[in-house]
Amino acid sequence: MKINAEREFELLKKIGFVRTSGSEEELKAANILLEEISSIGCEGHLESFKAPSSVIKKATLKVVEPFEKEYEIAPYNCSIGTSEGGITADFVYIEDGLDVNLVDLKGKFVLINTRPNSKLYKKLMDAGIAGYITMSGTAMDEEDKTDISIARIREKNTQHGRIPTINMRMKDCFHMIKNKASKIHVELIMEDVELTSQNVVVTLEGTKYPEEIISFGAHYDSVPYSTGVYDNGAGSVIIMELLRHFKENPPMRTVKFMWYGSEEVGLLGSKAYLKDHEEELKKHLLMINVDVAGSILGKEMALVTAEQSLVDYIDQMAKIKGFPLKVEQDIYSSDSTAFADEGIPSLTFCRFAPQGGAFIHTRNDVMEYLSAEALELTTIITKEFSESVINSVAFPIEKKVPDNMKKKLDEYFDKDPKKEETSEKK
Ligand SMILES: [Zn+2]
Repeated sequence: MKINAEREFELLKKIGFVRTSGSEEELKAANILLEEISSIGCEGHLESFKAPSSVIKKATLKVVEPFEKEYEIAPYNCSIGTSEGGITADFVYIEDGLDVNLVDLKGKFVLINTRPNSKLYKKLMDAGIAGYITMSGTAMDEEDKTDISIARIREKNTQHGRIPTINMRMKDCFHMIKNKASKIHVELIMEDVELTSQNVVVTLEGTKYPEEIISFGAHYDSVPYSTGVYDNGAGSVIIMELLRHFKENPPMRTVKFMWYGSEEVGLLGSKAYLKDHEEELKKHLLMINVDVAGSILGKEMALVTAEQSLVDYIDQMAKIKGFPLKVEQDIYSSDSTAFADEGIPSLTFCRFAPQGGAFIHTRNDVMEYLSAEALELTTIITKEFSESVINSVAFPIEKKVPDNMKKKLDEYFDKDPKKEETSEKK
């Protein structure tokens, strides 16, 4: 069978609608994938899991001193509201939240440059702030052409307690600071909800070594306002094409195909899979992820969270086959990272656009910047590599995640604050 990128592109159009974690549209996309799977002659199924979120009933922010102006805001999902009627608090810009920025903050609402990790979040809680604001976009964005990104507060942070947490346009924050806003009124009325999200799963049993498992992964959810075709409808249709290939050319080892839900709110789909299939993980030799592809402008990359020897192997393969592929040993913010954190060698193939060449996490992630031709290249690279290891005589990859990658994983998952401190002191 020959890779058919036009077919991939058509499927990409079909799932190219906003499909956020736990939404009806995410389920609709899962069902479209299931239909495609059965049209290939395979059997797929859904595995559902809980995706905590929030229902926002009211969200207002108004500067009350030294001028009066209301701004548009987007509360963080899974944060907490104010009391009915809202709160009035002093407003302070704490830049990066260094220790000297954190004095005398009790009862104040703060603006911060970065999304705090759990260590900084705890410091903010200890300082007794009333709430905090983070920024979305740039200081020059036009309101009618952009959306405020909707974030979700992570459990690593909320273990230290919850406070009202808001995202705002950087342009508006800039306006507030430039005009010396000093007091604000915030009212957030919101409710915790538990949505249901799902992974789509297909298994092709190995003909020779059925007990050894290699899995493909691609997340198929999107962020709000984004049709998520580049990120990551593209990866979703690439692994669908690979399912066709391996259905026609039965693999020597068992191959699982997973389309993960709710990646965008914190890798919930892959984490749920890992948790629900603990026994199976012993047989899991490698996870091959595809996240972000199809951009007309771009470069092919492989980010390998495994031994250096796998990095070298892929690099040599690319040179021998003539693939313009940049290979690096690193982690990648996607489902492959959740697998690596469980000790399973993982890698992500992607096609990365130069800055401004294609867009993720905004309303500009649309088909216009993508092509079937670009999808084809990432598909072929992923196929060539994966086929060589799935059908290898002796499996060539050691089941090990090296220490330098473990350290990056710990940082990524915000684990072990002691380690973080020592690396900062260097
Ligand atoms: Zn993605």
